[in-house]
Order: sequence, then structure tokens, then C-alpha cells
Amino acid sequence: MRAEIIGVGTELLLGQIANTNAQFISDKLALEGVNVYFHQAVGDNRERIGEVLKIAHARSDVIVLTGGLGPTDDDLTRESLAEFLGISLQLDNEALKNLESFFASFGRVMTENNKKQVMLLEGGRFLENKRGTAPGQYIEYDNRHYFLLPGPPTELRPMVNEQMIPLIRTIVGRQMTIRSRVLRLFGIGESAMETEVADILNSQTNPTVAPLASEGEVTLRITARADSEEAAYALIAPVEKQLRQRLDKYIYGIDDEILPVAVGKRLKQTGQTLAAAESCTGGLLAAMITDVPGSSDYFKQSWVTYHNSAKTEQLGVPSHVLETDGAVSEACARAMAEGARNRSGCDWAISVTGIAGPGGATETKPVGLVYIAVAGPDGTTAKEFRLRGDRQQIRLRAVKNALYSLVK
Ligand code: ATP
Ligand code: MG
Repeated sequence: MRAEIIGVGTELLLGQIANTNAQFISDKLALEGVNVYFHQAVGDNRERIGEVLKIAHARSDVIVLTGGLGPTDDDLTRESLAEFLGISLQLDNEALKNLESFFASFGRVMTENNKKQVMLLEGGRFLENKRGTAPGQYIEYDNRHYFLLPGPPTELRPMVNEQMIPLIRTIVGRQMTIRSRVLRLFGIGESAMETEVADILNSQTNPTVAPLASEGEVTLRITARADSEEAAYALIAPVEKQLRQRLDKYIYGIDDEILPVAVGKRLKQTGQTLAAAESCTGGLLAAMITDVPGSSDYFKQSWVTYHNSAKTEQLGVPSHVLETDGAVSEACARAMAEGARNRSGCDWAISVTGIAGPGGATETKPVGLVYIAVAGPDGTTAKEFRLRGDRQQIRLRAVKNALYSLVK
């Protein structure tokens, strides 16, 4: 079974957006054991869409098209595929009714061009779109399986999970179940980790173990193929145990449990609350914590005290600390965390202060110097970091280190 993904949209070619839909779908198909052999991207142009369809039809069994399903004239995916396959498009009355009530639920009247979206490929079927107006479509033609999915990732992702993947499973006959377990590590580099477990990585065929690194974080994905879900997890379990024995002190979470989720989980378990005081990260820490739905259960507030005067006025950092040690110092980090804890009344407060660069460095304080302090029920701890990278990387890594110091 060979699959191919075609991203339709001129904005992809102009570099205005990255083709994250192809990445998302590839990942999902890989988990089903479907090999994605090709990605293509093409502009909103009927003739060129026809050209890429010709190539895809000749070499792939599953062809996924994303984007260009909307109501406007530049949305051409449906029409181009119909033309390429030599089939008609027919207005579907039930889908039209659904679309009209979708508009009515927002108190809007549907315009005529929206009808385009409920034109069904002859012999195809709709994939329901709960988050937007354009339904997806599936059609089997000439032993090829075509999926047409909407461009916006918020609409595409649930459609892939809830409708495309179950269909793919019936297509591949479900002979194999593929399951993965992801171990999330922090505080160890990819190469150090690989050295640590090289023998395990190299000796595995089922499950396989694949390391991946990004922005200071490392993951290990253990993937097993078996007849059933239980059998796949049974293959994963002993390898996971082996890996945990060697890497336990770096593992902070599994599967989708990224750092801010792990932080939230721990705080929820103990019923405790958190506040933050940020300088060089400018609110990024709070943004990442509040990215997690339900974070208001444990996260109360953050101060962005960028200027020295704000550190004193809003967090009570003593002026003598700022004068003698400076804003980027362990003493300042401690005072920020303690100020945030006292003023918020939270169980925990975390602070970050550092030099993100490119300017601002001195002989004794280089770019990447960051102090993180955690004030908690048993006192305050602080740590110095020397982070590498450009401004954005340093800020991101500072946030991740701060989060990690809350889950350790
Ligand atoms: P709409 O009804 O919103 O017009 P559509 O199915 O016609 O949806 P497009 O018009 O092609 O889709 O794209 C809409 C938006 O979806 C784009 O502006 C972009 O933000 C996002 N998008 C499209 N294709 C991709 C892609 N391959 N990866 C990530 N995002 C994408
Ligand atoms: Mg569109």
C-alpha cells in the first residue's frame, strides 16, 4: 500500500505557510503501517493540479489531497479531481441542508457560492466537518483511494482521526495493529542518550525504538506491530522497562504528556497552585503553561517584569540586589520567585531571568546565562544555566528548563 499526499494551495509554494498537514497525515499513516512514498505541493491552478493527479494516480494507492475545498473561486481541488477522473459533481441535498443549518446556527445567511462545497464526486461519500463548512470526501476509483480534506488544520486533524483513519483501517484490512509508546526525556542530549542505550536501539526489530530530538528535548518512540492492541503493548512493555532502567532520571512523561502537561498533572495530583515571574521569557512561560486546557485549576498568574523597576515595584525585588548582583543573577531570581509566591499566595512560584541576546552581554555575563528559581513550601532553590542558541532558542530553552524544574 503506497500513499501520497498532495497539498493544494499557492500559499504553500510562496512560503507563506508550512505544509504541516502533510506532516500530520504522514505520522498518522505511518502508525497504521501505510507507507507514504511521496509529498507533492501544487498551487491553486486547475491544470497543474491535473498534472500532479496524473503522477499520483500512476504510482500510489492512497492519495490524500488537502486544501482547496472552500467556497471561493480559487478552491479547485474537487473540480480538478472530477475532471481528471472524468466523473461528475452532483449537488447533495442532505449536505446542503446541513450547511444551511450550520450558517443559521451563526445567524448568517448562506451565500450562493457555498453550494460548491456540497458538490459530491459521483460515487464518492462525504466526510463530516464538525469544525467548518467544507466537508471532506472519499472516493474509490480505479483501485485508488482518494481523500479530499479541508486545508485548515483545526478542521483537517479531527477529520483524519475520526474518519480517514478508520476508513484506512478497513482498506488495509486491519491485518496489523501498530501501537507506539513515546518516552519523553529532558536534561540529556540526543547523542548522550543514544550512547546510553545503543545496544537496545540496535537490537530491536519489533518493537523498533526511534530517538528524536528537538529544542533541548529528546523522545524515544517504541513502535510495535501485532495482531491486536494488547499484543502490541505486550511487545512494548519489556523494552520500555529496559529503557526506563537506564534513563529513568531523565524521563518526565509519556506519549502526549509534554512538559507543561506534566507540570499540570503533578500540581493537580497534590491540589497545589503555581505563579510565575518572568523577565527574559516575556510571558512565554505563562503562554506555555496556559496552552494546556484546564490550567486555571492550578495556575494563578504570571508577572512579566522586564524592566528593573517593575521587578522592584511589582515583586518587591530589593534595589540593592539589582544594584550589586544585577537583574541577571541568582539573588534576583530568588527574590522574584519569593515575591511572586508571597504576592500570589500560591504554593509554588517560578522565576526566570537571563540574557537572551544578541545584545546585553558583559564579560562576566554572556548571552545564554539564565537563572531559574523555584519558591515552594520548603524554601527556595535556584539554578544557573548556560543555554545555547539564538534569542528565540534561548527563550524557549529557558522556559523548558523552568518547566522541567517543576516536574523533577
Ligand atoms: P477554506 O474553506 O478555509 O477556504 P480550504 O479547504 O479551501 O478551506 P485552503 O483555502 O486551501 O483550504 O486553505 C485554508 C487555510 O488552511 C490556509 O490559509 C492555511 O492557513 C491552512 N492550510 C492549507 N493547507 C495547509 C497545509 N498543507 N498545511 C497547513 N495548513 C494549511
Ligand atoms: Mg479556501
